[in-house]
Amino acid sequence: MTMNADTNVAEASSELLPTLDYDAIVIGAGFAGLALIHYLRKLDLNVRVFDRASDVGGTWAWNHYPGAATDSESYYYCLTFSPELLQEWSWSKRYPGREETQSYMKFVADKCDMWPHIQLNTEIVEAKYLESRGCWQVTTGDGDVFTCKYFISGMGMISEPMIPKIAGMDRFKGPIFHSSRWPQQGLEYAGKRVGIIGAGATAVQMVPVVAETAESVTVFQRTPNYILPAMQKPMTPEWEAEIKNNYDAIVAKCRNHVFGMAFDSPVGRNAMDTPAEERQRIFEENWTGSFRWVFETFDDLLASPDANRMAGDFIAAKMRERVKDPKIADLLTPSFDDYPLFAKRPPLDHGYLEAFNRDNVHLIDIKEQEPLVEITETGVRTTRNDYEFDIIVLATGFKAYTGALEAFPIRGDGGHTLSEKWQAQSSSIMGVCVAGFPNMFVVTGPQAPFANLPTSIEQNAIWISRCINKMEREGLDVFEPQEDAEREWTAATSNIHEQTLMAEGDKVNSWMMGANRDDKGARVLIYFGGANAYYDALDQSADEGFPQLRFKKLS
Ligand code: NAP
Repeated sequence: MTMNADTNVAEASSELLPTLDYDAIVIGAGFAGLALIHYLRKLDLNVRVFDRASDVGGTWAWNHYPGAATDSESYYYCLTFSPELLQEWSWSKRYPGREETQSYMKFVADKCDMWPHIQLNTEIVEAKYLESRGCWQVTTGDGDVFTCKYFISGMGMISEPMIPKIAGMDRFKGPIFHSSRWPQQGLEYAGKRVGIIGAGATAVQMVPVVAETAESVTVFQRTPNYILPAMQKPMTPEWEAEIKNNYDAIVAKCRNHVFGMAFDSPVGRNAMDTPAEERQRIFEENWTGSFRWVFETFDDLLASPDANRMAGDFIAAKMRERVKDPKIADLLTPSFDDYPLFAKRPPLDHGYLEAFNRDNVHLIDIKEQEPLVEITETGVRTTRNDYEFDIIVLATGFKAYTGALEAFPIRGDGGHTLSEKWQAQSSSIMGVCVAGFPNMFVVTGPQAPFANLPTSIEQNAIWISRCINKMEREGLDVFEPQEDAEREWTAATSNIHEQTLMAEGDKVNSWMMGANRDDKGARVLIYFGGANAYYDALDQSADEGFPQLRFKKLS
């Protein structure tokens, strides 16, 4: 049922409603929305998924920039709840592009008859917990109001753009936009001068593709990245057969891996214990693309500073080999003295480094040589030069983990918002629940691991559906996430974080610590105890009847 959201009227009326519109409302029709439809429908729940995008896909519905592709390998960057789906879908290559991944998601929605549960082009502008009724009230941008028992965010952990405060941004006469808002109808960049601010994973994918036809591409780089080669390759019939004959094992591998990936690790050897020559041989032999290299060479690369330095040096040397101009190579390559490998999430590249060998691609060091001053009517001004552009792209990253949850008011107990709660610290219970927000679940919220996202999303959806199953079977109305459980998880997450090299991320604006945001301080955002250990913790919680939550009946 919908009503007009003249707020007072809406709230008063909804308080009187005898029934709820939905059992569960989910925001986000990406992997999380689709997984939740599957798992919650199995419980006979009436579930509604809203998304402001015009199609399913989440990240893959938004990121239309040229070159957008997955960095996880296709065959495990997918949902695994249906063996039939895994067998029926065929990937064309190792890392599918945006369109192929989105087509896969539409295929899932089609095959599983999910569309009746999905409402697109609908932005949610407020969600609030109605304490007296133990339910949530959700308001859309069009003023419709819906009620539900369970409110679930599937809005994604890297979805809310981080738009930097650069003077003069409203002055530029041409198109200027964030990379994840690349015009969906396409943008004619052939023959144009394109300025790209930012040099993270997004720019690394975008530059080589745009450079093929643009008159020029100029990248404004602040911090260099350790860039690993993607080494794209087509899916051959033999490879596909091997995958499809082994899907159970692949799914189990992801579930049991520290980063939720189908990698063959741990490998049982450390770089620090391996003689130099053999170490080099192992590094070389495993230089076959993807993040695999970090995990399938040695087990101590992210733990031991010395091993990390060796790995970083190896990557830097490989990067240099591909860039002709040694001065540009110097600018592009970081070293351990700047920051350790993985303190910032390393990009995977498909020809980014070679792009700088082209005459039409330029790299501007805005950290030391010529800091950025402002955007002008015609381009970008640094301390040394004025650069003229037809198009400016802000490839400046995202407000990871919490940004989407803070972008509109989500009000829990006492009307307090998540944004207010997370001013100093973004705490949660296992990234799935937040104290003070009853009957609300978050998929991959703050203090969840950073891992292959479909794996984490599905593990979260299973935990959520087990929790709801308990409530429905036992006639429970409300769950309240417990403060002490939240304190415990937050302390454990912080403790682990401090012992990792990732803690150095705040020195180099890493989004993995929220250190890239200009509206909040750096904080612990990620559980680095291993995705597999995290999935174990979720299972244990469900097996033990969810001790982190207090359940209530209202009457
Ligand atoms: P990012 O890694 O956070 O990079 C943002 C870039 O913008 C950095 O180079 C940053 O410089 C720069 N920047 C930010 N504010 C700036 C300012 N005020 N002035 C100048 N430069 C500024 O963002 P991203 O490239 O969008 O990637 C974010 C994450 O999204 C990735 O790490 C990845 O997890 C995900 N992603 C995934 C894929 C994929 O899997 N296929 C593709 C793209 C993105 P500093 O480094 O100096 O801060």
